[in-house]
Amino acid sequence: MTQKFLCPNKAGPKGLKSQNNEPTMFQFFSYNTTFALLSLSSFSLLLSLPCFPAKSLPDPLTELTAAGWNGSAWHDFAQFVDTGKGSRVSGMSELKKYFHRFGYLNLVPETNFTDTFDDHLELAVVAYQKKLGLAVTGKLDYDTVAQIMAPRCGVSDASHELIHTTRHYAYFYGEPRWARSTLTYAFSPESTIGYIPQSEIHAVFERAFLRWSAVIPINFTSVDDYQTADIKIGFYHGDHGDGEPFDGVLGILAHAFSPENGRFHLDGSETWAVDFGSEKSKVAVDLESVATHEIGHVLGLAHSSVKEAVMYPILRPRTKKVDLKIDDVEGVQALYGSNPNFNFSSLLESDTSLGCAVGSEMRSSLWVTSLVMIVLTLPLCFL
Ligand SMILES: [Zn+2]
Ligand SMILES: [Zn+2]
Repeated sequence: MTQKFLCPNKAGPKGLKSQNNEPTMFQFFSYNTTFALLSLSSFSLLLSLPCFPAKSLPDPLTELTAAGWNGSAWHDFAQFVDTGKGSRVSGMSELKKYFHRFGYLNLVPETNFTDTFDDHLELAVVAYQKKLGLAVTGKLDYDTVAQIMAPRCGVSDASHELIHTTRHYAYFYGEPRWARSTLTYAFSPESTIGYIPQSEIHAVFERAFLRWSAVIPINFTSVDDYQTADIKIGFYHGDHGDGEPFDGVLGILAHAFSPENGRFHLDGSETWAVDFGSEKSKVAVDLESVATHEIGHVLGLAHSSVKEAVMYPILRPRTKKVDLKIDDVEGVQALYGSNPNFNFSSLLESDTSLGCAVGSEMRSSLWVTSLVMIVLTLPLCFL
Protein backbone atom coordinates (compact mmCIF):
# COMPACT_ATOMS: atom_id res chain seq x y z
CA MET A 1 0.00 0.00 0.00
CA THR A 2 1.17 3.46 -0.68
CA GLN A 3 -1.41 5.36 1.29
CA LYS A 4 -0.27 8.35 3.24
CA PHE A 5 -1.87 9.07 6.54
CA LEU A 6 -3.17 12.17 8.12
CA CYS A 7 -1.84 11.76 11.58
CA PRO A 8 -2.64 14.15 14.38
CA ASN A 9 0.02 13.97 17.04
CA LYS A 10 0.06 15.23 20.54
CA ALA A 11 1.02 18.83 20.95
CA GLY A 12 3.06 20.51 23.61
CA PRO A 13 1.56 22.45 26.48
CA LYS A 14 -0.49 25.46 25.53
CA GLY A 15 0.71 28.99 26.41
CA LEU A 16 1.13 29.65 30.10
CA LYS A 17 -0.38 33.08 30.50
CA SER A 18 -0.04 32.90 34.27
CA GLN A 19 3.67 33.66 33.80
CA ASN A 20 2.77 37.11 32.47
CA ASN A 21 1.26 38.37 35.71
CA GLU A 22 2.07 41.97 36.63
CA PRO A 23 5.04 42.14 39.06
CA THR A 24 3.15 44.57 41.34
CA MET A 25 0.75 41.82 42.17
CA PHE A 26 3.43 40.18 44.35
CA GLN A 27 3.08 42.99 46.89
CA PHE A 28 -0.34 41.73 47.83
CA PHE A 29 1.06 38.39 48.99
CA SER A 30 1.92 37.91 52.64
CA TYR A 31 4.57 35.52 53.94
CA ASN A 32 1.72 33.25 54.95
CA THR A 33 0.53 33.28 51.39
CA THR A 34 4.06 32.50 50.23
CA PHE A 35 4.26 29.58 52.62
CA ALA A 36 0.87 28.35 51.46
CA LEU A 37 1.91 28.60 47.82
CA LEU A 38 5.16 26.76 48.46
CA SER A 39 3.22 24.06 50.27
CA LEU A 40 0.84 23.86 47.36
CA SER A 41 3.77 23.57 44.97
CA SER A 42 5.28 20.75 47.01
CA PHE A 43 1.91 19.04 47.15
CA SER A 44 1.58 19.39 43.38
CA LEU A 45 5.05 17.92 42.91
CA LEU A 46 4.11 15.01 45.15
CA LEU A 47 0.97 14.45 43.11
CA SER A 48 2.94 14.53 39.90
CA LEU A 49 5.15 11.64 40.90
CA PRO A 50 4.28 8.36 39.14
CA CYS A 51 1.30 6.75 40.83
CA PHE A 52 2.61 3.22 40.46
CA PRO A 53 5.86 1.85 41.82
CA ALA A 54 8.40 0.85 39.17
CA LYS A 55 8.32 -2.85 38.44
CA SER A 56 10.88 -4.93 36.66
CA LEU A 57 9.87 -5.95 33.17
CA PRO A 58 11.20 -8.95 31.28
CA ASP A 59 14.22 -8.25 29.11
CA PRO A 60 12.59 -7.62 25.69
CA LEU A 61 15.27 -9.16 23.50
CA THR A 62 15.72 -12.19 25.74
CA GLU A 63 11.97 -12.51 25.68
CA LEU A 64 11.92 -12.47 21.89
CA THR A 65 14.69 -15.00 21.39
CA ALA A 66 13.58 -17.32 24.20
CA ALA A 67 10.04 -17.25 22.90
CA GLY A 68 11.13 -18.80 19.62
CA TRP A 69 11.11 -15.71 17.40
CA ASN A 70 14.51 -16.69 16.02
CA GLY A 71 13.15 -17.39 12.57
CA SER A 72 11.19 -14.18 12.34
CA ALA A 73 11.96 -11.70 9.61
CA TRP A 74 13.56 -9.06 11.79
CA HIS A 75 15.44 -11.22 14.29
CA ASP A 76 18.88 -10.08 13.04
CA PHE A 77 18.09 -6.52 14.10
CA ALA A 78 19.06 -7.49 17.66
CA GLN A 79 22.69 -6.78 16.70
CA PHE A 80 21.90 -3.06 16.35
CA VAL A 81 21.15 -2.52 20.03
CA ASP A 82 23.11 0.44 21.45
CA THR A 83 24.19 1.79 18.07
CA GLY A 84 23.82 5.46 17.23
CA LYS A 85 24.89 8.05 14.69
CA GLY A 86 28.29 7.20 13.18
CA SER A 87 28.05 3.46 13.92
CA ARG A 88 28.73 1.11 11.05
CA VAL A 89 27.34 -2.41 11.33
CA SER A 90 27.05 -4.94 8.54
CA GLY A 91 23.40 -5.40 7.63
CA MET A 92 22.23 -1.97 8.79
CA SER A 93 20.97 -1.31 5.25
CA GLU A 94 18.30 -3.95 5.97
CA LEU A 95 17.14 -1.93 8.96
CA LYS A 96 16.96 1.13 6.69
CA LYS A 97 14.72 -0.88 4.36
CA TYR A 98 12.49 -1.61 7.35
CA PHE A 99 12.17 2.09 8.15
CA HIS A 100 11.57 2.84 4.48
CA ARG A 101 8.93 0.10 4.33
CA PHE A 102 6.97 1.61 7.20
CA GLY A 103 7.21 5.23 6.10
CA TYR A 104 10.14 6.61 8.11
CA LEU A 105 12.97 6.89 5.57
CA ASN A 106 11.58 8.19 2.34
CA LEU A 107 14.09 10.91 1.41
CA VAL A 108 16.84 8.48 0.40
CA PRO A 109 16.41 6.05 -2.55
CA GLU A 110 16.33 2.46 -1.31
CA THR A 111 19.25 1.62 -3.64
CA ASN A 112 21.51 4.07 -1.77
CA PHE A 113 21.13 2.48 1.67
CA THR A 114 24.50 1.86 3.34
CA ASP A 115 25.46 0.09 6.57
CA THR A 116 26.30 3.39 8.29
CA PHE A 117 24.06 5.02 10.92
CA ASP A 118 23.74 8.41 9.20
CA ASP A 119 21.69 11.58 9.76
CA HIS A 120 18.72 10.22 7.81
CA LEU A 121 18.58 7.08 9.94
CA GLU A 122 18.76 9.17 13.11
CA LEU A 123 15.76 11.23 11.94
CA ALA A 124 13.92 8.01 11.10
CA VAL A 125 14.63 6.57 14.56
CA VAL A 126 13.37 9.77 16.22
CA ALA A 127 10.18 9.74 14.12
CA TYR A 128 9.63 6.05 14.90
CA GLN A 129 10.13 6.58 18.62
CA LYS A 130 7.61 9.45 18.61
CA LYS A 131 5.03 7.50 16.63
CA LEU A 132 5.36 4.34 18.73
CA GLY A 133 5.25 6.21 22.04
CA LEU A 134 8.85 5.32 23.00
CA ALA A 135 11.46 7.45 24.75
CA VAL A 136 12.88 9.74 22.05
CA THR A 137 16.65 9.14 22.13
CA GLY A 138 17.56 9.05 18.42
CA LYS A 139 19.55 5.92 19.22
CA LEU A 140 18.76 2.27 18.70
CA ASP A 141 18.30 1.62 22.39
CA TYR A 142 17.01 -1.61 23.78
CA ASP A 143 13.29 -0.73 23.87
CA THR A 144 13.37 0.67 20.34
CA VAL A 145 15.04 -2.40 18.82
CA ALA A 146 12.70 -4.71 20.72
CA GLN A 147 9.72 -2.82 19.30
CA ILE A 148 11.18 -2.88 15.78
CA MET A 149 11.63 -6.66 15.99
CA ALA A 150 8.12 -7.29 17.27
CA PRO A 151 5.44 -8.60 14.89
CA ARG A 152 3.26 -5.87 13.48
CA CYS A 153 0.67 -4.81 10.94
CA GLY A 154 1.96 -4.35 7.40
CA VAL A 155 0.25 -1.00 6.88
CA SER A 156 2.74 1.88 6.81
CA ASP A 157 2.98 4.35 9.70
CA ALA A 158 3.72 7.23 7.31
CA SER A 159 1.94 10.27 8.57
CA HIS A 160 1.30 13.90 8.04
CA GLU A 161 1.63 15.37 11.49
CA LEU A 162 -0.67 18.05 12.77
CA ILE A 163 0.25 20.15 15.77
CA HIS A 164 -2.02 21.67 18.41
CA THR A 165 -4.03 18.56 19.05
CA THR A 166 -3.87 16.05 21.83
CA ARG A 167 -5.40 13.26 19.78
CA HIS A 168 -3.38 10.16 18.94
CA TYR A 169 -5.51 8.33 16.41
CA ALA A 170 -4.84 8.91 12.71
CA TYR A 171 -6.52 8.66 9.34
CA PHE A 172 -5.43 7.79 5.86
CA TYR A 173 -4.55 10.81 3.76
CA GLY A 174 -7.76 12.48 2.59
CA GLU A 175 -9.74 10.83 5.39
CA PRO A 176 -11.54 8.34 3.11
CA ARG A 177 -14.62 6.62 4.58
CA TRP A 178 -17.43 4.41 3.38
CA ALA A 179 -20.44 6.31 2.09
CA ARG A 180 -23.02 3.60 2.88
CA SER A 181 -24.07 2.33 6.26
CA THR A 182 -24.34 -1.41 5.55
CA LEU A 183 -21.20 -3.21 4.48
CA THR A 184 -21.00 -6.84 3.46
CA TYR A 185 -18.03 -9.11 4.09
CA ALA A 186 -17.04 -12.53 2.77
CA PHE A 187 -14.16 -14.98 3.05
CA SER A 188 -12.12 -16.15 0.09
CA PRO A 189 -13.13 -19.75 -0.65
CA GLU A 190 -9.59 -20.59 -1.85
CA SER A 191 -7.27 -18.43 0.26
CA THR A 192 -7.96 -19.82 3.68
CA ILE A 193 -6.44 -21.93 6.46
CA GLY A 194 -7.53 -25.47 7.22
CA TYR A 195 -6.52 -25.97 10.84
CA ILE A 196 -9.25 -23.77 12.34
CA PRO A 197 -12.87 -24.71 11.57
CA GLN A 198 -14.55 -22.17 9.28
CA SER A 199 -17.35 -21.74 11.81
CA GLU A 200 -14.81 -20.59 14.42
CA ILE A 201 -13.15 -18.16 12.00
CA HIS A 202 -16.57 -16.74 11.14
CA ALA A 203 -17.44 -16.36 14.82
CA VAL A 204 -14.15 -14.53 15.47
CA PHE A 205 -14.82 -12.04 12.68
CA GLU A 206 -18.44 -11.57 13.68
CA ARG A 207 -17.31 -10.55 17.18
CA ALA A 208 -14.64 -8.25 15.72
CA PHE A 209 -17.10 -6.51 13.39
CA LEU A 210 -19.63 -6.15 16.21
CA ARG A 211 -17.12 -4.21 18.32
CA TRP A 212 -16.89 -1.52 15.65
CA SER A 213 -20.59 -1.50 14.72
CA ALA A 214 -21.43 -1.01 18.41
CA VAL A 215 -19.80 2.43 18.37
CA ILE A 216 -20.64 3.76 14.89
CA PRO A 217 -23.83 3.64 12.77
CA ILE A 218 -22.44 1.00 10.38
CA ASN A 219 -23.75 -2.56 10.04
CA PHE A 220 -21.64 -5.46 8.83
CA THR A 221 -23.33 -8.41 7.16
CA SER A 222 -21.71 -11.74 6.33
CA VAL A 223 -22.42 -12.92 2.76
CA ASP A 224 -21.33 -15.94 0.74
CA ASP A 225 -20.55 -14.19 -2.54
CA TYR A 226 -16.88 -13.24 -2.21
CA GLN A 227 -16.73 -11.38 -5.52
CA THR A 228 -19.46 -8.87 -4.73
CA ALA A 229 -18.73 -8.38 -1.02
CA ASP A 230 -17.54 -4.96 0.14
CA ILE A 231 -14.91 -6.46 2.42
CA LYS A 232 -12.93 -9.41 1.04
CA ILE A 233 -11.06 -11.44 3.64
CA GLY A 234 -8.38 -14.02 2.83
CA PHE A 235 -5.21 -15.72 4.09
CA TYR A 236 -2.26 -15.35 1.70
CA HIS A 237 1.37 -16.48 1.53
CA GLY A 238 4.33 -14.40 0.37
CA ASP A 239 3.78 -12.37 -2.79
CA HIS A 240 0.06 -12.42 -3.44
CA GLY A 241 -0.26 -9.84 -6.19
CA ASP A 242 -0.93 -6.55 -4.42
CA GLY A 243 2.66 -5.34 -4.13
CA GLU A 244 2.73 -6.04 -0.38
CA PRO A 245 4.21 -9.54 -0.01
CA PHE A 246 3.96 -11.34 3.32
CA ASP A 247 7.15 -12.49 5.01
CA GLY A 248 6.56 -15.85 6.69
CA VAL A 249 6.33 -16.46 10.44
CA LEU A 250 5.84 -13.27 12.49
CA GLY A 251 7.21 -10.01 11.04
CA ILE A 252 4.18 -8.67 9.15
CA LEU A 253 0.97 -10.31 10.35
CA ALA A 254 -1.69 -8.77 8.08
CA HIS A 255 -2.71 -5.68 6.15
CA ALA A 256 -5.88 -4.06 4.93
CA PHE A 257 -6.69 -1.28 2.50
CA SER A 258 -8.36 2.05 3.16
CA PRO A 259 -11.98 2.83 2.16
CA GLU A 260 -13.62 1.99 -0.10
CA ASN A 261 -11.25 -0.76 -1.20
CA GLY A 262 -12.18 -3.48 1.28
CA ARG A 263 -9.25 -5.88 0.73
CA PHE A 264 -8.35 -7.56 4.04
CA HIS A 265 -5.34 -9.91 3.93
CA LEU A 266 -3.86 -12.10 6.66
CA ASP A 267 -0.45 -13.79 6.44
CA GLY A 268 -1.23 -17.48 5.91
CA SER A 269 2.19 -18.41 7.35
CA GLU A 270 1.29 -17.30 10.88
CA THR A 271 0.08 -19.76 13.47
CA TRP A 272 -3.33 -18.20 13.93
CA ALA A 273 -5.07 -18.90 17.22
CA VAL A 274 -8.64 -18.54 18.40
CA ASP A 275 -7.83 -20.01 21.82
CA PHE A 276 -4.38 -19.97 23.41
CA GLY A 277 -5.53 -22.80 25.68
CA SER A 278 -5.58 -25.23 22.77
CA GLU A 279 -2.96 -23.53 20.53
CA LYS A 280 0.31 -23.86 22.45
CA SER A 281 2.75 -22.49 19.84
CA LYS A 282 5.09 -19.76 21.12
CA VAL A 283 4.54 -17.82 17.91
CA ALA A 284 0.74 -18.12 17.89
CA VAL A 285 -1.04 -14.89 16.97
CA ASP A 286 -4.53 -14.04 18.16
CA LEU A 287 -6.82 -13.93 15.14
CA GLU A 288 -9.50 -11.84 16.82
CA SER A 289 -7.04 -9.12 17.86
CA VAL A 290 -5.65 -8.82 14.33
CA ALA A 291 -9.14 -8.94 12.80
CA THR A 292 -10.31 -6.11 15.05
CA HIS A 293 -7.23 -4.01 14.17
CA GLU A 294 -7.52 -4.55 10.42
CA ILE A 295 -11.24 -3.68 10.42
CA GLY A 296 -10.12 -0.31 11.80
CA HIS A 297 -8.05 0.15 8.61
CA VAL A 298 -10.95 -1.02 6.43
CA LEU A 299 -13.04 1.72 8.06
CA GLY A 300 -10.38 4.39 7.50
CA LEU A 301 -8.31 4.53 10.67
CA ALA A 302 -4.52 4.57 10.43
CA HIS A 303 -2.11 3.65 13.24
CA SER A 304 -2.41 5.19 16.67
CA SER A 305 0.44 6.15 19.00
CA VAL A 306 -1.50 4.92 22.03
CA LYS A 307 0.06 1.60 23.05
CA GLU A 308 -3.17 0.30 24.56
CA ALA A 309 -5.27 1.18 21.50
CA VAL A 310 -6.40 -1.51 19.10
CA MET A 311 -4.98 0.67 16.30
CA TYR A 312 -1.40 0.56 17.71
CA PRO A 313 0.61 -1.22 14.98
CA ILE A 314 2.33 -3.90 17.09
CA LEU A 315 0.91 -7.13 18.50
CA ARG A 316 3.17 -9.62 20.24
CA PRO A 317 2.55 -13.36 19.93
CA ARG A 318 0.20 -14.96 22.47
CA THR A 319 -1.31 -11.56 23.22
CA LYS A 320 -4.97 -10.66 23.04
CA LYS A 321 -6.06 -7.06 22.43
CA VAL A 322 -9.64 -6.92 21.24
CA ASP A 323 -11.40 -4.21 23.23
CA LEU A 324 -11.68 -0.80 21.58
CA LYS A 325 -10.17 1.97 23.65
CA ILE A 326 -11.28 5.61 23.90
CA ASP A 327 -8.68 6.54 21.28
CA ASP A 328 -10.08 3.98 18.78
CA VAL A 329 -13.67 5.02 19.46
CA GLU A 330 -13.01 8.76 19.18
CA GLY A 331 -11.11 8.18 15.95
CA VAL A 332 -13.77 6.12 14.22
CA GLN A 333 -16.65 8.25 15.54
CA ALA A 334 -15.00 11.37 14.12
CA LEU A 335 -15.34 9.65 10.72
CA TYR A 336 -18.81 8.13 11.02
CA GLY A 337 -20.53 9.65 14.05
CA SER A 338 -21.74 7.68 17.04
CA ASN A 339 -24.06 4.71 17.12
CA PRO A 340 -27.17 6.08 18.90
CA ASN A 341 -27.10 3.08 21.24
CA PHE A 342 -23.48 3.57 22.21
CA ASN A 343 -22.84 4.50 25.82
CA PHE A 344 -19.52 6.26 26.41
CA SER A 345 -19.70 5.85 30.19
CA SER A 346 -19.47 2.06 29.99
CA LEU A 347 -16.32 2.44 27.90
CA LEU A 348 -14.88 4.97 30.33
CA GLU A 349 -15.25 2.47 33.14
CA SER A 350 -13.42 -0.27 31.29
CA ASP A 351 -10.75 1.80 29.53
CA THR A 352 -7.70 1.70 31.77
CA SER A 353 -5.61 3.39 29.07
CA LEU A 354 -7.64 6.54 29.54
CA GLY A 355 -6.65 6.66 33.18
CA CYS A 356 -3.01 6.38 32.25
CA ALA A 357 -3.28 8.94 29.45
CA VAL A 358 -5.21 11.41 31.54
CA GLY A 359 -2.97 10.64 34.49
CA SER A 360 0.21 11.33 32.59
CA GLU A 361 -1.15 14.52 31.05
CA MET A 362 -2.32 15.65 34.48
CA ARG A 363 1.03 14.82 35.98
CA SER A 364 2.94 16.81 33.34
CA SER A 365 0.63 19.79 33.73
CA LEU A 366 1.09 19.56 37.50
CA TRP A 367 4.87 19.67 37.04
CA VAL A 368 4.50 22.81 34.93
CA THR A 369 2.11 24.34 37.47
CA SER A 370 4.47 23.50 40.32
CA LEU A 371 7.48 25.00 38.58
CA VAL A 372 5.52 28.15 37.74
CA MET A 373 4.40 28.43 41.37
CA ILE A 374 7.97 28.08 42.62
CA VAL A 375 9.26 30.68 40.15
CA LEU A 376 6.47 33.03 41.22
CA THR A 377 6.86 32.52 44.95
CA LEU A 378 10.66 32.34 45.35
CA PRO A 379 11.23 36.11 45.04
CA LEU A 380 8.74 36.62 47.87
CA CYS A 381 11.04 34.82 50.28
CA PHE A 382 13.49 37.70 49.92
CA LEU A 383 10.95 40.46 50.52
ZN1 LIG B 1 -2.40 -1.71 11.06
ZN1 LIG C 1 -2.29 -8.23 0.47
